[in-house]
Amino acid sequence: MARPADVVFTGGDVHTLAEPDGVEEAVAVRNGRVARVDSAYEIDFCTGVETTVVDLDGSVLLPGFVDAHTHMLTLGQSRVHADLSGAESQKEALDRLRTDAARNHDWVLGFGWDESDWGTDPAPRRDDLDAISTDRPVAAFRVDLHSVVLNSVALDRLRADLPSDEIRTESGEATGVVVESAVDVVSAAIEPGRERAGTLLRAAIDFAHEHGVTAVHDMVRQSAAPRAYRDLDAADDLDLRVRINYWADHLDAIEELGLRPNHGSEFVRTGAIKTFTDGSIGSQSARVAEPFADEPDETGTWVVPPAEFRTLAERVDDAGLQLAAHAIGDVAIDAVLDVLEDVGDPAARHRIEHLELIDEASIARLSAVDAVASVQPNFHQWAGEDGLYARRLGDERRRRSNPLGRLADADIPIAFGSDGMPMDPLYGIEQAVTAPTAAQRLSVTEALRAYTRGSAYAGYDENRMGTVETGNLADFVVLAESPWEHPERIADIDVVMTVVGGEVVYESRQ
Ligand SMILES: [Zn+2]
Repeated sequence: MARPADVVFTGGDVHTLAEPDGVEEAVAVRNGRVARVDSAYEIDFCTGVETTVVDLDGSVLLPGFVDAHTHMLTLGQSRVHADLSGAESQKEALDRLRTDAARNHDWVLGFGWDESDWGTDPAPRRDDLDAISTDRPVAAFRVDLHSVVLNSVALDRLRADLPSDEIRTESGEATGVVVESAVDVVSAAIEPGRERAGTLLRAAIDFAHEHGVTAVHDMVRQSAAPRAYRDLDAADDLDLRVRINYWADHLDAIEELGLRPNHGSEFVRTGAIKTFTDGSIGSQSARVAEPFADEPDETGTWVVPPAEFRTLAERVDDAGLQLAAHAIGDVAIDAVLDVLEDVGDPAARHRIEHLELIDEASIARLSAVDAVASVQPNFHQWAGEDGLYARRLGDERRRRSNPLGRLADADIPIAFGSDGMPMDPLYGIEQAVTAPTAAQRLSVTEALRAYTRGSAYAGYDENRMGTVETGNLADFVVLAESPWEHPERIADIDVVMTVVGGEVVYESRQ
């Protein structure tokens, strides 16, 4: 008989999420990998005196969630500073921001406000933040990271570096809101050093584990995060699988070092080259063919114009690297497809991030270029009848935003990510399953697969993770209840346990 297992998880419903989805009762783990998936009776034979036996007690074990689009440093910042997400009024957001002023940081920071949750309350302004501090800089980032509000101290401190056309004004006065590349200036000003980055990433990793996330694709820009991840890995303190998707400003360094996709360790690997094309719907900067419904003169902004994007994409493709291109508006999506039709090496699995307003013709084009749809099911939170997208886009575009069902019909590989709004795969899966229209919906199994094997595929990892199968990494999430039995309240299901490499990294019940 084979050597006994190191750990067995037994007495639950084990969904492999392979093709077809198999349901078993137990998993045996050896050397951090799945050794066998079978009935509790059979797995019992893998148990020796040294084997740790974890009783699943009727809960549901799935492959761990792979969040294909994250901003881990921002998540860490929101854990350590003020988390403004989910605030239900401007006052609540400002109250939370005020709690950070009581701490002893140089900057007072808040992350994740979303005025679309506030009824008639407007987005905060400079004056609102001046009321929090007049001697320290205050910055509050919008949930989509495409705009940030500054108080007067912060505006004065950064004024020389802020591009003047991205400082929003009203009758000649700065409102405190700055957008797009001006957001990068603010981000650079608060960028943590290597050691601080490690602390923030550790806080973000703990949060990921609490939500059943065992792997992330992290979008990294001008930051100490790559070094901090490798420091954590070297110290044996990295228990989340991280693919670093480097922003295009790192491309010179990556080419010089000869890095290729997947270079790295079991825990931290080289991923794609990330770039923008347009902005976002929330910030009215997505490049759209028809103007925004609530801003008839606005059709969005090129953050990276098409010619510049083409040059970059060709360079990435020639270097054998993977491209991850942000494109939200229909015009931006078509600009990316124009380029991928010319340079796309299908083996490269180039990815388009977001794809929110992809139309039928472009779905066919996307299918033909074999690129990955890296999408965010949680964005359906704005697609309701009275939601933000109804106001920004009007009803027709609102009902066909993020057409997850249509992407699935076209057999396009779908990777799910949260983009940190919020990081919570179960919330995203519920949104995918309960979306307003059939074109926007997936089945429970399809949505779970997109957040596991689909995201693994986007990182060339489908033979390492994303299903509970022999030989794969023993990365699991254990849920208190079955998502198939409660499709309308998947977000409320408790994560009982998160397992990485066979080790329990999070457990809700003591
Ligand atoms: Zn993002």
